[in-house]
Amino acid sequence: MTSGPFIPFALPDLTSAESDAVLEVLRRGWITTGPRAKEFERRFAGAVGAPHCVAVSSCTAALHLALEAVGVRPGDEVIVPTMTFAASAEVVRYLGAVPVLVDVNASDHNVAVPAIERAITPRTRAIVPVHFGGVPADMDEIVALARPRGIVVVADAAHAFPSEYRGRNVGALADVTCFSFYATKTLTTGEGGAAVTSRAEWADRMRIMSLHGISRDAWKRYMEGGSWYYEIVAPGFKYNLGDIAAALGLAQLARAEAMRARREAIARRYDAAFAGREALELLAPAPDRTNAHHLYVIKLAPHLLDIDRNRFIEELTARGVGVSVHFIPLHEHPYYRETFGYRPESLPVAHDAYLRSISLPIYSAMTDEQVERVVEAVLEIADGHLRASATAR
Ligand SMILES: *Cc1c(COP(=O)(O)O)cnc(C)c1O
Repeated sequence: MTSGPFIPFALPDLTSAESDAVLEVLRRGWITTGPRAKEFERRFAGAVGAPHCVAVSSCTAALHLALEAVGVRPGDEVIVPTMTFAASAEVVRYLGAVPVLVDVNASDHNVAVPAIERAITPRTRAIVPVHFGGVPADMDEIVALARPRGIVVVADAAHAFPSEYRGRNVGALADVTCFSFYATKTLTTGEGGAAVTSRAEWADRMRIMSLHGISRDAWKRYMEGGSWYYEIVAPGFKYNLGDIAAALGLAQLARAEAMRARREAIARRYDAAFAGREALELLAPAPDRTNAHHLYVIKLAPHLLDIDRNRFIEELTARGVGVSVHFIPLHEHPYYRETFGYRPESLPVAHDAYLRSISLPIYSAMTDEQVERVVEAVLEIADGHLRASATAR
């Protein structure tokens, strides 16, 4: 059995560039929102192709601010794919609105456009496509459904920096697009997030609500030239991103393309190694979009193997390979089951994908040796557990 030191499922890629940037902020002494955060907003907006960027404390905060700014109100419905993280739907509940969970495509685990179409009602206020694993959802079709009905599209791009869809940058596809800079994401600020948009009034509203509903550059009030006077125009939140985090983000941004290229090389190696293994199904995103490669998912073909997904994970763990599952569909969690009456089979594609999925490690700090150990472990388990009937064929 191939074994060795534990390979974590995810690790941030931090170099001396990041520590130097953080230390520089500490030496200057302005550690909350300030010049670094403003510079990060400018640069990140440019990197994703959007005119306005509001940097905040998490993607969850960005999604909350975005839905508030576009006018989601109590009783409204917001369509969310079930194959996502808690954040995408809980923010809908923050606003007293109803998340309507819908199924995904088997091919890429992105939201299924026909499922959105069936879920639209006169109460639908917004759609939240999630760019699963780093591959943009079917945005032209989604926007074409939304626009004529006055429905707003707020994309959850927590996985998708950097990526493109039909030649357009990921920040230019939805009305508002939200990113995560959590420790495991493709760019990290430790904790952090951002909302980008081309609509100045939504950007203004998100900026104001991100800092206590205080109008006019509240973050400047303790700076030279800042004013002690401020006005509260709405009961806002405390979601600002500080300069320590922003400095880390700026250093990561400068390395984003190199980190993406490394993840792509790992994905290519996995693709080549697993191709032709019928027991291992791979996602097949459409060729008209690029992949930020935040996740690498394999789906087991249960009829070809004599072990199930959970046993497969135990075998990987025994070989020192850290893995995860993305995601336990939201509709299968107790809160959503009990509140909205879903059963696992209510959204059958996501349910089936969940039972068969394993996410393998894919991050730029992985060494070639670690990648080879993951490949060997997966193949050893898959080949060693082929059903007799499958081997005989
Ligand atoms: C990580 C994640 C989030 C939340 O990001 P935070 O920055 O931790 O709030 C939202 N949506 C998806 C799909 C995620 O994977």
